[in-house]
Order: sequence, then structure tokens, then C-alpha cells
Amino acid sequence: VKTQSGILTEQDVIQAINHKARWSNLYSTPKIIAIESSISTYGGIVFPLAEIKKLKQLCIEKNMSLFLDGARVLNSCISLNIPPQEYTKDIDLLNICLSKGIGAPFGSVLVGSQHHIENAKRYRKWYGGALHQSGLLAAIALNKLEHYDSRLHTDHQNAVHLASILSRYFQLAYPVETNIVMIKVPDAEHVVQKLKSHGVLATAWTADIVRFVTSSNISETMLYQLE
Ligand SMILES: *Cc1c(COP(=O)(O)O)cnc(C)c1O
Repeated sequence: VKTQSGILTEQDVIQAINHKARWSNLYSTPKIIAIESSISTYGGIVFPLAEIKKLKQLCIEKNMSLFLDGARVLNSCISLNIPPQEYTKDIDLLNICLSKGIGAPFGSVLVGSQHHIENAKRYRKWYGGALHQSGLLAAIALNKLEHYDSRLHTDHQNAVHLASILSRYFQLAYPVETNIVMIKVPDAEHVVQKLKSHGVLATAWTADIVRFVTSSNISETMLYQLE
């Protein structure tokens, strides 16, 4: 579904549903709305809570589930300064990546109702995802989860700092709301190579957008060295 600004709205979904014939049960019935927060392709912007609530209302009306690809959902919560249980209150099922900003060496978790989780466990087994002795890795992740608050705050502050340096030379592609900074350039590949020769790693996200991500590997001191 194409959106105006990366945020999937209630109208976008209604339009997508009405775009195809649904008048007989021989046609497919939409069962789930999947959204993402923060939204990686749109510079890590946060999916607004008010829009989530509207989508939930639509899900109730249409008998659909609401899925959140929340790989970076804790970044969204820190950015909005609200607890995860409040931000995800209307979500039926979500995933959270533990090895990105959270800084665990491994893993992600799926959060949802017992029914969803029992079902997911079967798929996990089928896809070879059931690990033995995974408690060791889980213990590290648990420790990281206890400290994610200050951890992600630092990343967000560093992203704002990085954006302030970069915006002296480049146009920012999106507002910086979390730990991602995207800039517009004429030739992304060229800029990335140039940066690399100075020890700065970034991604040529598209032909004309370069993406930077701050993480536990990036310190404020390193950013001052950039200046
Ligand atoms: C990283 C990422 C994933 C995958 O996360 P895993 O922890 O590797 O499963 C899924 N969705 C988005 C938007 C991501 O950025």
C-alpha cells in the first residue's frame, strides 16, 4: 500500500480494501494490517500513536488483526517518551529486535496473545528456529532490556548531533526522530566510498540517499572527531 509520508492511514487501508472486488466470499478477505515503527525507509520516523488507534478501530470494524513490525519499537517509545505497554496497547502482535539499538548480541522476540504465540512456536520449529540452550543468549538480552532507556536516549542524542553536522553540507531527507539520519546527495555510492576512506561507515540506501545509524558502537567523542 502506497502512503503519502510513510504513515499508513485508515484511508489508505480503506482504499486498498475497496480497490478489489470483495462482494463474494470467493474473493480474498483482508485479515491483517501490518505497520512498522520506527519506519526505516522513512528515516526512522515514529508511527503516531493516534494513527495506530484509528487503525485499531478499523480492524475491529473489519474483523482484522493489527501487526506491528516493531524491530525498533523501543526507539519509538523513547522518542515519544511513553512506555511500550502504552504505545502497543492496541497492537495484536509485534516483534522486537534485541540485537539492534538494544545492543544484545542476538535475537528478537514476538509479543502477542497466547493463541498467536502458540501458533508462532509451530512455525518457529518448522523454519528451524527452535534453539537449544538459548537461555544463555536470552540472559544477555534480558540484561540489555533493563538498560535500554538510557542506551537508546544516547543513540537519539547522537543522531541529532550527527544530523546537525551533516546538515551543514547536505539536506536531511527526513526529520530525525530516532537513531537514523538520512541525507540527500547527488550520488550516494560516491559519498559512501568517500566517507569510508575517512573511517565513517554509512549505507547508500538509494541512489541519492545515504543512511547513517547511531548505535552502541558510536560515541559522542567520535562525533566530535567528525567536526
Ligand atoms: C531488523 C528488522 C527486522 C528483523 O529483525 P530481527 O531481529 O532480525 O528478526 C524486521 N523488521 C524491520 C523493520 C527491521 O528493521
